Amino acid sequence: MERPLLPGGTIGILGGGQLGRMSAIAARRLGYKVRTFDPSARACAAAIADEHVAAEWNDTAALTRFAQGCGRITLEFENIPPATVEFVAKSVPSHPSANVLAICQNRRREKEFLRAAGIPCANFAVVTSLAELQAAVRTIGFPCVLKTADFGYDGKGQVKLPTAEADLAAAWDKIGGAAGVLEAWVPFQLEISVLVARTVDGRTAVYDAAENIHRNHILHLSLSPARISAATAAEARALALGIAEKIQLVGLLAVEMFVQDGRIVVNELAPRPHNSGHQTFDANETSQFEQHVRAVCGLPLGGTKPLQPSVMLNLLGDLWKNGQEPDWTKVLADPSAKLHLYDKGQAAPGRKMGHVTVTAPTLDEALRRAEGLFAALSA
Ligand code: AMP
Repeated sequence: MERPLLPGGTIGILGGGQLGRMSAIAARRLGYKVRTFDPSARACAAAIADEHVAAEWNDTAALTRFAQGCGRITLEFENIPPATVEFVAKSVPSHPSANVLAICQNRRREKEFLRAAGIPCANFAVVTSLAELQAAVRTIGFPCVLKTADFGYDGKGQVKLPTAEADLAAAWDKIGGAAGVLEAWVPFQLEISVLVARTVDGRTAVYDAAENIHRNHILHLSLSPARISAATAAEARALALGIAEKIQLVGLLAVEMFVQDGRIVVNELAPRPHNSGHQTFDANETSQFEQHVRAVCGLPLGGTKPLQPSVMLNLLGDLWKNGQEPDWTKVLADPSAKLHLYDKGQAAPGRKMGHVTVTAPTLDEALRRAEGLFAALSA
């Protein structure tokens, strides 16, 4: 059995984005050394790392240098080739596994896994040609949504087909004419997500569901706890735990779900810290980032309880008007708002530059204040 990696050891993180940056902060707080690997030399996690290796995912010489001296390797980015994880796993215990990554980064494998595991998800059909798409719409029905199998996130690579009048050939072209998944449209009332952590010896910890509100397909606000019944919350936690078990997760997994008439439909899996869990840094016993570190290192898992209701507000590059940094004193003046900036340099529309967590005695108050901060920053 794999031995725990104790504080003082070195954790390697594949990927250098904000999720790696915040995982690295949590790791360093625990006394670990951190190494990051990313194709970009200016990756925002690199500033937190002891060492940063900038190289392509298939550069085995650079991967060997990166892995040497690491006691554990993990990842923070979903579109890393599974072969990269397989390569480093030959010399260093690496979590999550290449297999978990391969399932979660491809919608076809993900949906097939969910269906085989008996997890409720939208009805779907795999399509690999326009002819198959034309046949699939007859079984799935309208409205439905066509998604690319690979590299989809934040609503990218998908086309909604509202009625039988939809132009299937145009939709097929739009997703690049490669393999896709045609999904039934779920008329949900809410989107929620649940974070679950699991260690190599099968210990688990699960967070309460967060409720996610999007703008232009990108997460805008995440409310914790989600405004769902106790029964739905319990079902969400149980489903996430079941998925972690069945996929043999080691590390952290975010399970995105739709709530439709009190019932849950699982949408997507992400085997890494997740945008909807950022508020755990300030509002829970253990942050998702520390839990990620604890899980991959085989440490005892931390408590997940919320300390207070919280709302996370994403800070996208759209808030930078004419390249001008927003006036952060508006956030800093709120005594219960915590500002997190990722030091990414250039802002661009839709680019995740930071977030704010607002905590309050009630969720309503946290939401009101988060919305107020968004309005002030947008003004
Ligand atoms: P995804 O990239 O699969 O996470 O989808 C992005 C967003 O599109 C989701 O957060 C939903 O708001 C919406 N969406 C995706 N699939 C469906 C579906 N089958 N039914 C309804 N809405 C969907």
